[in-house]
Amino acid sequence: MWSFIEQLLSLLAPPCLLCNSFSANLDNYCPDCYAELPHNHHCCAICALPFDVDFNASIVCGDCLQQPPNMNHGFDQALAALHYLPPVSSLVHALKDQDNQAAGRLLAACLQRYIESHNPDLPQLIIPMPIHKQRLQERSFNQAKVIGKLLSKRLEIPLKDGVIERQINTPSQQGLNKKQRRRNLRQAFVVNDSTSIAKLLQQVEHIAIIDDVMTTGASANEVARTLRKAVCHELRVDAWCVARTLPPNSKLHLY
Ligand SMILES: [Zn+2]
Ligand SMILES: [Zn+2]
Repeated sequence: MWSFIEQLLSLLAPPCLLCNSFSANLDNYCPDCYAELPHNHHCCAICALPFDVDFNASIVCGDCLQQPPNMNHGFDQALAALHYLPPVSSLVHALKDQDNQAAGRLLAACLQRYIESHNPDLPQLIIPMPIHKQRLQERSFNQAKVIGKLLSKRLEIPLKDGVIERQINTPSQQGLNKKQRRRNLRQAFVVNDSTSIAKLLQQVEHIAIIDDVMTTGASANEVARTLRKAVCHELRVDAWCVARTLPPNSKLHLY
């Protein structure tokens, strides 16, 4: 009888996006595939840069040791659930390029699990990393908002879109180093000038920016700077992303 019910349920449940088995949960992944994902377990405690080795302690990378991002009014802390490696990269593209909502649910669930396991101070507000109007028209949605909305619902933290606008359609950041990316992004973001947004920002002291992928963290730093400039009080800004690209020379892709 039980196996009959199980069979029936398996017909209703969506298959695992990664292995097509019918043992997936409602977020479209099965326990085996989840265990095999490239989780960002060992990383910098400030910028989430993946480490090749397990230092068995909470440590900080060389860059953050020299100059943590918030020293330049960038973000306070980044959390990145996964490495930007297959199959995560394919899922990110499935969401971004094909509007694959199932992939979005899977990625949001991974970020949620990561956040819950790290138990950080939760922000009062979530804002998705904005994309330029032109790109929004081409794509019709912002993938960071898809992930942010799911997370907002699950963690019960309000999400507000449109707080920050991307006023310059920056050319692709691919192939640029940290310094070039920062120059590329200077004045790329602006706070929406409506009174309701100004009022909202005066009321919050802790915000998390949500994005799908973080490479150098230059965009998150620039958004954090822009937000801080708009308020007169101290503001904590965290950057939460689904995946972090590996640093150059990382050997993690070999494992
Ligand atoms: Zn699976
Ligand atoms: Zn770091």
